[in-house]
Amino acid sequence: MAKVEKFAFHVPSLEELAGVLQKGLKENFADALVSVVDCPDLTQEPFTFPVKGICGKPRIADVGGVPHLLPLVQKDKVYDLNTVAKEIELPGAFILGAGAASSRILGVNAELIPIAQTETEQKHAVNASYTARINPTDGGCLLEKYKYSGFGLLANLFASQGQPGKVIEVKANGRTGQHNFITCLRHILEKHYGDKPVGMGGTFLIQKGKAKMHIMPPEFSACPLNTDEEVNNWLKFFEMKAPLVCQPVIVSRDPGFDLRLEHTHGFSHYGEGGHYHNDTTPDSVEYLGYFMPAELLFRIDRPKETHLIGRD
Ligand SMILES: [Zn+2]
Repeated sequence: MAKVEKFAFHVPSLEELAGVLQKGLKENFADALVSVVDCPDLTQEPFTFPVKGICGKPRIADVGGVPHLLPLVQKDKVYDLNTVAKEIELPGAFILGAGAASSRILGVNAELIPIAQTETEQKHAVNASYTARINPTDGGCLLEKYKYSGFGLLANLFASQGQPGKVIEVKANGRTGQHNFITCLRHILEKHYGDKPVGMGGTFLIQKGKAKMHIMPPEFSACPLNTDEEVNNWLKFFEMKAPLVCQPVIVSRDPGFDLRLEHTHGFSHYGEGGHYHNDTTPDSVEYLGYFMPAELLFRIDRPKETHLIGRD
């Protein structure tokens, strides 16, 4: 079993959190409305998740890390969502987030968009995950269902019991600030809560506009990638159109576990998906998100040698 470290987040009430986010978002979006609502039924379109909600024992797992991918890949770094669920003390957890698919399973490197209710002794897993990879025929995006629980290298995961319940709803239209939607939310949390780290995850829709997304190339880099510029030259960037269904994981401040503070992967129902960077249509963009603050952080298999390259 991998080394597992555990940390308790500061957990504000939903009402307090809604107020804090509302105030901060006004500085970054023309229109922003944050409220506490009943989680919409996430089994319905456009989410089509295997569970109804994101409530019940919410927690965040940061598994592995970018140092397993860069400067050179460590292909022996493999993980499993069912094992992670046990490691975060929530077997059967519903898991959302952003990671890397298993190159052992797929034969190529690919983005993983995990959306899975993990197994228990009584129940099989229900996996609604996707992978996004480069289409070998035309160099475009190939989005496919991913029926496996195995993944590689790294993942940032938001886990819960997948129950209905009260959540934070964030509507934000017309971006006026520089940062993407998730960076905005993280900065607001960091500014308000300071050295009391707050974690948050869930799902959001880009309802209108387009977004800059990346997909890792099918082959790992044969030469070491040592700078952000080298990483960006290696990645394949796309402009993908709404509607996109995105799964963010946010930690306001690293309490000392070498965390990736934000990571968002998204999918669509028209065949594209990948890693979210920002919208490219600030005037017309419309975001609608559902979030829950996490109670616990689990740091699983923290890389032994680390760096800060490629965490955007
Ligand atoms: Zn990513």
